Amino acid sequence: MATLDFDVIVVGGGVAGAACAALLAGHGRQVALVDARRAHFEPSAQDFDPRVVAISPGSQRVLAAAGGWQRLDPGRLAAYHRMAVHSASLGVTFEAGEHGLDQLGWIAEIPALQSALWQALEDDARVQLFAPVAWERADLGHEVVRLSLDDGTVLRAGLLVAADGARSRLRQRAGITLDEWHYNQKALIGPVRTAEDNSGLAWQRFTEHGPLALLPLPDGRSSIVWSQPADRAGQLRSMNQSDFVAEINRHQDSPLGEVLEVGERHLLTLVRRRARQLVRDRLVLLGDAARSVHPLAGQGLNLGLMDAAALAEVLENWNDGDPATALKHYQRWRLSNGALISGGIHAINELVRAPAGLGRHVLGLGFGLARQLWPAREAFVQRACGLDSDSPRLARSRSTA
Ligand SMILES: Cc1cc2nc3c(=O)[nH]c(=O)nc-3n(C[C@H](O)[C@H](O)[C@H](O)COP(=O)(O)OP(=O)(O)OC[C@H]3O[C@@H](n4cnc5c(N)ncnc54)[C@H](O)[C@@H]3O)c2cc1C
Repeated sequence: MATLDFDVIVVGGGVAGAACAALLAGHGRQVALVDARRAHFEPSAQDFDPRVVAISPGSQRVLAAAGGWQRLDPGRLAAYHRMAVHSASLGVTFEAGEHGLDQLGWIAEIPALQSALWQALEDDARVQLFAPVAWERADLGHEVVRLSLDDGTVLRAGLLVAADGARSRLRQRAGITLDEWHYNQKALIGPVRTAEDNSGLAWQRFTEHGPLALLPLPDGRSSIVWSQPADRAGQLRSMNQSDFVAEINRHQDSPLGEVLEVGERHLLTLVRRRARQLVRDRLVLLGDAARSVHPLAGQGLNLGLMDAAALAEVLENWNDGDPATALKHYQRWRLSNGALISGGIHAINELVRAPAGLGRHVLGLGFGLARQLWPAREAFVQRACGLDSDSPRLARSRSTA
């Protein structure tokens, strides 16, 4: 049975884990990346993958430093320069230029991001990819970790990164307690065509059933994310095209005009999860393994990419000794940042579900106030874009932009 030595083992090569592996390799670490599946993306000329995400400028810099951003097809990215959020009769709009930015973010396909990062990893001699492979046993020692793969290989390292997603098996293996909230909501996602082409607007309204977002796609269509009570979301998914178009137009009043047609619709179940600890000896959690959040603010993956950059930053001076101090710093930093963002998102989602639309009126008043207060808008943009002082250095540095 072969035993292979590395500095770090990363389990889970989703976008967060793959970015983390690339950043650590960039700091000279020997990295093993283990995934149950091999990243594969076959871009369709006809359509975009329904799993699109909003990527903040801070996250874009992290992806660029990891070697992924440069490998993306720019024709499959849609930048947004304007973001408008409405609740009841009030709303607030953010313009990139007013905040000294060229854009507030990009809409990108998750499989494209993952595949671009894997290409960067394949080109990096310090990284070894183990995929598709299953791990059978994880020995989480105080000084060394061992991961036994189902082909008999044993990987040994000084640090194990669990980036294996919301249902992280490694988190379970480490016995880390998880808090879970089942929202009984599903997100309905899919592309729509509107009367006007969407050339860079991220728009959201808190409807009576839940937040409805229209996000730009590179071909002028928009991708919708409409979070709703699970049973209603199911009914909307199976509605015929013309009934669905009528229903969405009853709830959206974006400057893009009427929705004219809709593509294939998909449903995703929404659960908030939060690991109480991010570190156990030499195991560290990141991305959705650390927490998953409601999509209403488009922050889940952005948080995961900030985790990856934060972990690389705290480990910068690690010299194979005990990384406990660096990991403690990571845990404090990312737990408090995650709690603030995920707690804020959760509070908004609970508020807008208050009876008789009261919460939506309160939220609308908040938006109205933010419209008047430049410092509040600026602080919001800095945080949402991953550029505030609590973000990792890499996200704040303009050199990779
Ligand atoms: C409707 C919706 C809209 C969203 N919109 C946004 C948005 O606009 N912006 C944003 O930032 N976020 C958004 N998110 C959140 C975002 O999609 C997730 O936070 C992100 O994709 C999680 O990435 P990850 O790399 O942490 O985990 P994953 O993508 O889940 O990757 C986990 C990896 O681990 C591997 N794995 C799992 N188990 C094992 C195992 N036992 N052994 C080996 N490998 C394993 C998997 O194969 C996978 O490759 C949205 C989510 C939803 C539901």
